[in-house]
Amino acid sequence: MKLISRKDWDAKSPSADYTRLDSTRGVKIHYTGGKVPANLADNDRHDRCAELIRDMQAMHMAGGRGEKYIDLAYNLVVCPHRRVFMGRGPHALPAANGRGLNSGHYAVLALLGSSGLTKPNDEMLNGLVDAIEYLRERGDAGREVKGHRDGYDTSCPGDALYTWVRSGAERP
Ligand SMILES: [Zn+2]
Ligand SMILES: [Zn+2]
Repeated sequence: MKLISRKDWDAKSPSADYTRLDSTRGVKIHYTGGKVPANLADNDRHDRCAELIRDMQAMHMAGGRGEKYIDLAYNLVVCPHRRVFMGRGPHALPAANGRGLNSGHYAVLALLGSSGLTKPNDEMLNGLVDAIEYLRERGDAGREVKGHRDGYDTSCPGDALYTWVRSGAERP
């Protein structure tokens, strides 16, 4: 797996300690929603991926989701170049699944929007499976792979990714 450390994406330190999770039933998949640049998956656009994640971390920590989060809400983030960015990482409670739903599943974000880049390429799907396997090995994640919309009223992770989740979340 091509893991990008927090240092390498220039993450801010969390503002408080994470709540520890010993294990989860599995992983929930998310997308960013909104507009993601249509050309983000181009080979020369990978620098933009880290920028998008830094912006999202700043927004989450500033209270853009209604409350100030201690860090980026996700455990891992996957870009369309098959890179996996370290978010809160394994054994940490995420803040992305919705109230009461965070201890059941880790949260993995795909850099995919509801406009612009909306369809996952093969690199992204392989990166998502890399991230899921990593959370099973390092974070005691169970076998479930679900979408944010399972149990929560949201369009996330978008129809294209949700179809992939429902069909078994397998490598392309
Ligand atoms: Zn989501
Ligand atoms: Zn990238």
